[in-house]
Amino acid sequence: MNFLEEKILEDGKILNNEILKVDSFLNHQIDPKTIRETAKLMVSHFPKVDKILTIETSGIVIAYAVAELLGDIPVVFAKKSKSATNDYSNVYMTEVKSFTRNFVSTVTVDKRFIKENENILIVDDFLAEGNAAIGLIDLIRQGNANVVGVTAAIEKYFQGGHEKIEKMGIPVYCPASIKEFKDNKPVF
Ligand code: 5GP
Repeated sequence: MNFLEEKILEDGKILNNEILKVDSFLNHQIDPKTIRETAKLMVSHFPKVDKILTIETSGIVIAYAVAELLGDIPVVFAKKSKSATNDYSNVYMTEVKSFTRNFVSTVTVDKRFIKENENILIVDDFLAEGNAAIGLIDLIRQGNANVVGVTAAIEKYFQGGHEKIEKMGIPVYCPASIKEFKDNKPVF
């Protein structure tokens, strides 16, 4: 069992047999050691990358740790909400259905930050049904760049995202892969 899996067993909470709450170490309070150990595992699977793409907010901290280990490559986070400082005439845009909240949001990346033929790795905190990752794949392809792979700290394999993305011909690796929730505990 790796460090992240141990941490999930210690501190994770399962809600409605569907959501894993990891806000004590991953997406509210952040534990640097867990982030670092998770990032090391991700990098061992995807060593050749030019840039990281994630989605705000919870993916950013892991994406940053991965980027440092890959030699300080840039991290771009796709934006979910409109901001007065953005120029919407020059963005790639897609729609993403939220897993945890019941709505679809418009997600954008400035065209300057996805360049033709760049090798881009998608990093996130969770992979569930795959909607966030598939939205990010769409943005990368709009920019004629290459998707190296998808890596999320934790995947709930039974929710289908992993298989969907692999069927698109894209490699997927998640350091903590949950096969099922059983007796209110994750089974890896
Ligand atoms: P997907 O788009 O793959 O269905 O879901 C991935 C996104 O939903 C992630 O960016 C993550 O923020 C959120 N998410 C999905 N499942 C969980 C979960 O069990 N716990 C938490 N905290 N977030 C989740």
